[in-house]
Amino acid sequence: MNRRRRIYEGKAKVLYEGPEPGTLIQHFKDDATAFNAKKHALIDGKGVLNNRISEYIFQRLGEIGVPTHFIKRLNMREQLIREVEIIPLEVVVRNVAAGSLASRLGLDEGSALPRSIVEFYYKNDKLNDPMVSEEHITAFGWATPAEIDEVMQMALRVNDFLVGLFLGIGIRLVDFKVEFGRLWEQNDNMRIVLADEISPDCCRLWDVSSGDKMDKDRFRQDLGGLIEAYQEVARRLGVLTENPRPKGSGPVLVSTNGMKPN
Ligand code: UDP
Repeated sequence: MNRRRRIYEGKAKVLYEGPEPGTLIQHFKDDATAFNAKKHALIDGKGVLNNRISEYIFQRLGEIGVPTHFIKRLNMREQLIREVEIIPLEVVVRNVAAGSLASRLGLDEGSALPRSIVEFYYKNDKLNDPMVSEEHITAFGWATPAEIDEVMQMALRVNDFLVGLFLGIGIRLVDFKVEFGRLWEQNDNMRIVLADEISPDCCRLWDVSSGDKMDKDRFRQDLGGLIEAYQEVARRLGVLTENPRPKGSGPVLVSTNGMKPN
């Protein structure tokens, strides 16, 4: 039974009221959807893996100075986050042609792009998240020109970092989608922060040596083995170790010959 107040329910996550004002709890579900939820399935354990993977990525990004909504992971499926006002844009960064870009421009899937490309989509399920330009974004007031600049810079910085992070574990970051939010601090200062999640649900991740897909395309394209692929991403990131033993509950090295254990 969950008596917490539910603030919002999306396709793969639920947001609950947090323990303090200005905080929320982000809960990762096992639901997998594609083609604007026309295709749906429950994939046992996906939420747990995405929670872990996203926690890891947001922490690493925080360490290099990218501001994010992430505070801490609470349990297997939930994390504590700062409440932000989501900018209604899906920001996609692409390094390699795939998915809708490949079909729209007739590019061979897998061909490297001349440079990283940032695209904006208006977050609106009823309209199937249409692609929009900066003109639309500013004309309709979804974000200011200064906010768009900041979002683009942050998205490219996240991309640079993640390309290296994934390459180091033998994975090619083909493209990904991120969302940003406005965070109000004291004195009515506003900062743009990275929000939502970064997981194999919203990235294209290809194994460098085999080319195997390790992301939600396995579900979109009925390739099977989604959980195994997500587990492999988590394992390579080093986040698969379940439930580290609580401090003090393990064997304790007793000093011998009067020497202190190191
Ligand atoms: N993406 C996402 N949510 C969406 C649409 C796209 O997370 O609603 C991600 C997708 O996983 C991929 C990238 O954004 O990593 C680019 O997706 P694309 O535009 O090629 O669309 P798709 O072919 O996935 O519909």
